[in-house]
Amino acid sequence: MILKALVIGLDAASPHLIEKWIDKLPNLKRLTQRGVHGVLESIVPPSSVPAWQCFATGKNPAKIGNLGFIYIGRDLQIKHGRTIPEMGCIWDICSKAGFRVGVFNVPGTYPPYPVNGFMVSGFPIQPGKAWTYPADLMKKLDSAVGGYEADVPLAKPSEMKGGERAYLSEVERLHSKSVESARLLLEWFRPDLFVMTLQGLDMVQHDFWHFMEDPASQYASVVQDWYVKMDEAIGKLTQSAKEDTYVLIMSDHGSVPVAGSLYINEFLRSQGLLACNVNGGERAGEKGSSRKIREFAIRHVPPRIIRTIYSLSPSFIASKLTVSAEMERVLRDLVQSIDWTRTLAFSTGGHGAAIYVNSQPERPKELSTTTARSEIVRKICDLLSDLTDPVSGEKVQPVFHLGEKVFRGPYKSEAPDLCVELFEEDKKVQVNPRLGSRKIWSSSSHFAATHVRDGFWALTGPQVRPGITQDAGILDLAPTLLNLLGLRVEEDFDGQILDSVFSKTGSR
Ligand SMILES: [Zn+2]
Repeated sequence: MILKALVIGLDAASPHLIEKWIDKLPNLKRLTQRGVHGVLESIVPPSSVPAWQCFATGKNPAKIGNLGFIYIGRDLQIKHGRTIPEMGCIWDICSKAGFRVGVFNVPGTYPPYPVNGFMVSGFPIQPGKAWTYPADLMKKLDSAVGGYEADVPLAKPSEMKGGERAYLSEVERLHSKSVESARLLLEWFRPDLFVMTLQGLDMVQHDFWHFMEDPASQYASVVQDWYVKMDEAIGKLTQSAKEDTYVLIMSDHGSVPVAGSLYINEFLRSQGLLACNVNGGERAGEKGSSRKIREFAIRHVPPRIIRTIYSLSPSFIASKLTVSAEMERVLRDLVQSIDWTRTLAFSTGGHGAAIYVNSQPERPKELSTTTARSEIVRKICDLLSDLTDPVSGEKVQPVFHLGEKVFRGPYKSEAPDLCVELFEEDKKVQVNPRLGSRKIWSSSSHFAATHVRDGFWALTGPQVRPGITQDAGILDLAPTLLNLLGLRVEEDFDGQILDSVFSKTGSR
C-alpha cells in the first residue's frame, strides 16, 4: 500500500506569515516550489468547526448541518457541531471506494465512527469516552506516546499558574505528542489517504501574537518559532510521502491581531433591537459559581495537577473548567436573559458574529413577514456601518455576509441571518455575545489574535503544475483532491475542481 494523499492541516496558519518567513521554512519552501500554493479563502464563519468539515466535504455549513462547535438552534437549544458519515467527508468517500483511510486530530470529529481504516478524534473530546475508531487504538496510542492528549490547554497563559512559560510547555507537549502519534499511525496503518491537523499555531497565535510587536519581549519570536516547528513537523511527516503522493498543506483559516472587543448583544440592546427580561442582563453579567471555580483552579493549580484531576474525574473538569463549558454557559445565559417577546435580533458571537432575527413563536408581531425580517437585517447592517471604536478612535470597516447568500442547503433555517466581520485596518474586532457587561466596547479582549478567512494552501503531486501561485476556496479542495485520486463522485459540492493547477501532461 502506498500513501496516495497526505493532508497536513496547520490550524490557523497565516499565508502572510508563511510568505514573510518562507526562507526560514525549508520544507514549506520546497513544497511551494514543487507545486501550487496561495491564499485559501475559508468559509463564513472562519471557525475551526465547521471549517474543517466544510473542507472535508466541499460543502457550506448549511448543507452539512454543522454550524459551529457550539451554537443555538432555532429551538433555542444548545447544539454541538458534529461530523457524521452522511455528510460525505473525503475520507468517507475514499473509504467507500475501497481506500484505506486515516483521520487524525481533526477538530470536531468526536465521536469517532467506523471508516475503512482509523479515526482519532480531534478536540473537543468527551472525557472518559472512546476517542478512536477502532476503540482499542486508544490504548496502543496512549502507551506509545506516554499518555495521548487531544484537548487544548484549559486556560489562557495570563490565567494560568506559571503564566506564559507554563502555557508554552503545555502546547509544546501536546504538539510533540501529535506529531509522534501521526508518525506512528502512518507506520502502523499505511493508509492510502491520511488527513490530520496540528493545533499548536492556533493556540500560540491567540495568546502570543502581540509579542511580535514588542522586540524587547522574551516572547517576541514565539509565533515565528512555532512556524519553524510546524515546518519541521512537515519535514518529518512528509518522509512517508513518495514521488507520486499528493501532499496538501493547508489551514482552515488565518489569523490577525485583535482590535478590542464589541459586546454585540449590549450593542443591539442599546439600539432597541434586543430586550432583557427582569434581571436578565444582570444575572448573565455576574460571575457564576462555575466560572469562579474555573478561574480559581486555573490560576492556583499547576497544569500538571489539573491534568491528574482531569484523568481521575473527567466529567467534573469538563463541566466546570473547559473553555467549551464556559461558552455553553454564556449561550445558556443569553437564551435565559433575553425577553423573546420584545427582541428583534440577537447574536451568538464567534468569528462571524452570527446574528439571528428572532424567530420564536412569541416574537414581536412586527417580525411576522419576510420583508420585515430583511428590514431588520438591513437596519443592523446600517448601524454596524456607522460604528467607531471609542477606545482606538478607529472607524470600523464591516464586511457583511448575508445569510441568504452564504448559506445554502437543508439546514439553512438553522444558520444566522447575518454574519459580519469588523475590521480596523489590519486588525479585527472580537465579537463577544455575553450580556450584562454594561458596556459596548472593551479594549481588553480575550485573545491577542483572532480568525480571518485568509488561510494557506500548498499542493504537490504528480499532476500538479510546479511553482505556481493560485488562490482558492476551501470548498474547492475536496472535489479537486478526489479528482486527482481518480474518484468520480456524484456529490453536491459547493466548491469547484481546480483544473488550472493540473499539468496538461497529467494522466487524468
Ligand atoms: Zn482553526
